[in-house]
Amino acid sequence: MTVHRKNLIDGEWLGEAGSRNINPSNTNDVVGEYASAGPEEATQAIAAAKAAFPAWSRSGPLARHAVLKKTSDEIMARKDEIGRSLAREEGKTLAEGVGETIRAAQLFDFFAGETLRLSGEMVPSVRPGVGVEMTREGVGVVGIITPWNFPIAIPAWKIAPALAYGNTIVFKPAELVPESAWTIVDILHRAGLPKGVLNLVMGKGSVVGQAMLDSPDVNAISFTGSVGTGKRVAAASVEHMRKFQLEMGGKNPLVVLDDADIAVAVDCAVNGAYFSTGQRCTASSRLIVTDAIHDRFVDAMKERLDTLVIGDALDAKTQIGPVVDQTQLKQDEDYIAIGRQEGAELAFGGERLERETPGFYLRPALFLGSTNAMRISREEIFGPVANVIRVKDYDEALTVANDTPFGLTSGICTTSLKHATHFKRNSEAGMVMVNLPTAGVDFHVPFGGRKGSSYGSREQGRYAMEFYTTVKTAYTLAG
Ligand code: NAD
Repeated sequence: MTVHRKNLIDGEWLGEAGSRNINPSNTNDVVGEYASAGPEEATQAIAAAKAAFPAWSRSGPLARHAVLKKTSDEIMARKDEIGRSLAREEGKTLAEGVGETIRAAQLFDFFAGETLRLSGEMVPSVRPGVGVEMTREGVGVVGIITPWNFPIAIPAWKIAPALAYGNTIVFKPAELVPESAWTIVDILHRAGLPKGVLNLVMGKGSVVGQAMLDSPDVNAISFTGSVGTGKRVAAASVEHMRKFQLEMGGKNPLVVLDDADIAVAVDCAVNGAYFSTGQRCTASSRLIVTDAIHDRFVDAMKERLDTLVIGDALDAKTQIGPVVDQTQLKQDEDYIAIGRQEGAELAFGGERLERETPGFYLRPALFLGSTNAMRISREEIFGPVANVIRVKDYDEALTVANDTPFGLTSGICTTSLKHATHFKRNSEAGMVMVNLPTAGVDFHVPFGGRKGSSYGSREQGRYAMEFYTTVKTAYTLAG
């Protein structure tokens, strides 16, 4: 079935659905047709959000709690249907699609609870007879710009706190995944959000996104996507003196030490590097392996990779779905060619695969004999491609792990408490995993990185409050 979806602006569904989206597992399958907004609609949406802010910011915790809780309940009740639609639209497997949908429901539930836990502080002034209150208020109109690789979880982890803390929203999802975005907005709209509080403007980044960056009426922008676009968001936001938050790329290391449990290390590497078709900012793309375990680890990896079922995302047996689209597939193949030219050995996979339906299927690729100076070690590929870097010991592994312009996640597989503890302390990443894949995080704790991966305060958990609120300090003469 092909759906036709419009934008939501000031409480009205508007625009002709014209832009077509296809299923990456079967390019003959048209998922839907979607409205593609121009700059005027973006401006209209921003004006609607601005007009809705005073009332919504003073609506009180119960009104916000009701909408967020109702949204969470509906997403959870429809998790299989929404998860399937997500898998059809983005190409992640059914299990991954349903898992991500459940996470979105949990995020709305968490921030529903947060509406009732807002607090401030009251202290005596240094001046006798004066009281000082510190409270948090919503920032205003928040622009939310999201990427395609987590079509429902990333919108949820931005929209839920933005609403919980009393902000109004202009939401611009990635062009490749409008269906998941539309679904979440439809649910929130029907859950009772007043008009203008949440506006959906689907369309091109260079048009709709850019109009949001250029508007003086957008008070804050939360962005997740590539480094290149992130830098544009930063420059435009400084120009307007607005708050901004960026979550961008990664080149995450997984260190495997001689004393690692080999089964745990292979599980972590296969999951971290290849699940979700390697299209996760938290993917383990550099496997940094010490000498004595190197050959055993590589043999076990090849054996495991050979068992992986790569195919249609909607087939329950599939473990790795297709690449998201032709452009990303070309990027993956280009990097595989670059790795070979640089002198790394392609030890497994990397070739296109034919399946019953025409889709963007690629066998997971594993390079050996790579150095950390190669482009495949330094640049984010964002596909099912990983490379092994052989090192002599823990100290060299840590140096190589930290030698990167990025700093989102890192991981170590070891049975040594000493090395695990040292790595947690000295890894230059925002999130560190011990004997766990670098990808896969909880929804109630902070998410974010360092260096070129992130900018601004953390997302998720109670830490999200930092971005979506501003602090007011009020003084009262008690008399
Ligand atoms: P992208 O930068 O191409 O697009 C992200 C969003 O920005 C899209 O909605 C796009 O339409 C919009 N955009 C494009 N041009 C714009 C402009 N001029 N003005 C405003 N908005 C504009 O990224 P992508 O390809 O969708 O996503 C993949 C990237 O996202 C990868 O680099 C990945 O690592 C990153 N990512 C990071 C995290 C994280 O939390 N660190 C999570 C997921 C994805």
